[in-house]
Amino acid sequence: MKLSYELVELSAKYPFNIANKDVCGSVFRNVIVRIECEGLVGWGEAAPFEIYGENQKTVISALQTIAPCVEMMKDPWEAEHIMDFLDSKLERNFAAKASIDMALYDLQGQILGLPIYRLLGLSPGRIPDSTYTIGIDSEEMIREKVCEAKDYPLLKIKVGGPGDIETIRIVREEAPSASLRVDANCGWQPRQALRMIEQMVELGVEFIEQPLPAENKEGARWLYERSPLPLMADESCERLEDIPECIGRFDSINIKLAKCGGIRHALKMIGCARAHQLNIMLGCMPETSIGVTAAAHISPLVDYCDLDGAELVGNDPCYGMQFDKGRIVLSARPGLGVGLIASPV
Ligand code: MG
Repeated sequence: MKLSYELVELSAKYPFNIANKDVCGSVFRNVIVRIECEGLVGWGEAAPFEIYGENQKTVISALQTIAPCVEMMKDPWEAEHIMDFLDSKLERNFAAKASIDMALYDLQGQILGLPIYRLLGLSPGRIPDSTYTIGIDSEEMIREKVCEAKDYPLLKIKVGGPGDIETIRIVREEAPSASLRVDANCGWQPRQALRMIEQMVELGVEFIEQPLPAENKEGARWLYERSPLPLMADESCERLEDIPECIGRFDSINIKLAKCGGIRHALKMIGCARAHQLNIMLGCMPETSIGVTAAAHISPLVDYCDLDGAELVGNDPCYGMQFDKGRIVLSARPGLGVGLIASPV
């Protein structure tokens, strides 16, 4: 097999503003990975985030370390071995590893002539609708964005500041019948969070994602015992080993392929979360159709989807799933059914 990659620069349709200033921005530098095997091309994507210790440069360096290992293997059926070997050679680098994992799945599906959801025994009819994200902004811009998203039944509102209740009130005014989910991206402190959440009950918010900084584990337990709304872990739950810590602190977890290392690892997290009665969302980073489609293939297994990453960028160079006002439609193409638009296979 042969590994190659291409750098992509994604421009956000609206500047991506959230409570964590380290991840705000308008440009996202991802890496598209291609693994060739006997005339087939498997695609993957690395969507690195600095808060998890990765960026485009670290991904390139990881891929250069990984390439000889992939090239030594003759087919994608060595995937488990390849991924275990990468874990032993490279610490963390989960976005880079996720891109390899996706490409190997894509090849396996293509060899068998089956889409990945079928390979996993799943029905695309069971995919939950996805939220559409509204970032932190001025009142005028929020009204404009919500108006633009008027046909989306599920909205995810980014908050994390003093005007949060007002923001939700504005969204509720503009979208009286939408389901609202709120993501504070670590932006609150425990007592402030409780006050906010109590007011959000009246505004019909469904649940709150990551109210407190991930390191405030005692605060998370305190809030969980008092919160009138369900709480979801995102920054507090990167990988399988973080799940036990979420018990008694959260009601649900947000799994992202770029955070955990790919489909293989996400499936283990889903099993573990179910064993602990945690609900599950599949989320994404700002990414192309390749990354979100890979996640969509396993989404019949989860309760919620937040896979609007490619909708939020204005220059997605890839094709994959369709996103129809929050409804996710996967094709019946073998593998992931993705690729670069410039060179479809
Ligand atoms: Mg989040």
